[in-house]
Amino acid sequence: MKVLIVEDDQVTRRLLEALLKKWGYEVLSTCEGTEALEELEKPEAPNLVISDWMMPGMDGLELCRKIRKTESSGYIYFIIVTARGEKQCVVEGFEAGADDYLIKPFDREELKCRIQIGKRIIDLEHRLTRLASTDALTGALNRRAFTEKVEIEIHRATRENATFSFLLADIDYFKKVNDTFGHQAGDFVLQKFTERLSSCSRPYDFIGRYGGEEFVMCLPGTDVLQARSIAERLRREVEDMSIQPADVSQSIQITASIGVASFRLASKETVDSITMRADEAMYKAKREGRNRVCVGNNR
Ligand code: GH3
Ligand code: MG
Ligand code: MG
Ligand code: MG
Repeated sequence: MKVLIVEDDQVTRRLLEALLKKWGYEVLSTCEGTEALEELEKPEAPNLVISDWMMPGMDGLELCRKIRKTESSGYIYFIIVTARGEKQCVVEGFEAGADDYLIKPFDREELKCRIQIGKRIIDLEHRLTRLASTDALTGALNRRAFTEKVEIEIHRATRENATFSFLLADIDYFKKVNDTFGHQAGDFVLQKFTERLSSCSRPYDFIGRYGGEEFVMCLPGTDVLQARSIAERLRREVEDMSIQPADVSQSIQITASIGVASFRLASKETVDSITMRADEAMYKAKREGRNRVCVGNNR
């Protein structure tokens, strides 16, 4: 876990750095608040801050207030470590939004325990976020979480004049799988299907579950031609799968129909508009006989 130290006094800063490294944390450090805010805006920024109060430039309380006012990707646990020990200062620190307050000179073991409390809260938050954003059966993102990530992708593609693509994959005649082998076997098929989608994806691609047996994959930086060939490879891999649920005597074969759509820079693209084009393409694939890939209108 990464920790950001904000401390103007070099001796204290070095001491904190050495202790935290010894306790197994990855450490970043800055000398005042403005610099700290810059660090926190970067991708993969720390979720735990240990900050002094009095510093030249932006002080620790101001920094804490700013952090609480800014939207961040995860909760930032904020510990103030200061020489100001009067009761009203402690209250002021908590009122600024701090989670914890330690008075200098601090006890090392106590600091270690208090950081562990912060880590527990951060881990809990990560777990809750994951639970709230994924589908329990398949581990794919749920519709809301997927939509949020696509919105970020739309902003990025617009800003960087880049592109991304969408694959909308629907299992063919899935109702028959349930009717023939039972709902539990159907669930198992959905899990195996999602695993196959993941194995065809790169680390920055992401997969959402849109409906019962309908999944959507977002491919950042991928144009429509590349997306079509990825979809075609996926289609073949699904066709070649032989799925064997535990209490079913024969293995199950499935196929999928896949619609492809790519981001259009010129038009006012939204998550709905790109989904609609992928959906139209997927239905075209169904109409033309299923087990195929169709590309949506991209003009
Ligand atoms: P098509 O080729 O036109 O897509 O036919 P289909 O049978 O796949 O489509 P349809 O929409 O008629 O049926 C989808 C089925 O998916 C019906 C529903 O019971 C099943 N289903 C939806 N969610 C789940 C789930 O979580 N588990 C299981 N086992 N089945 C599900
Ligand atoms: Mg200071
Ligand atoms: Mg289907
Ligand atoms: Mg469907």
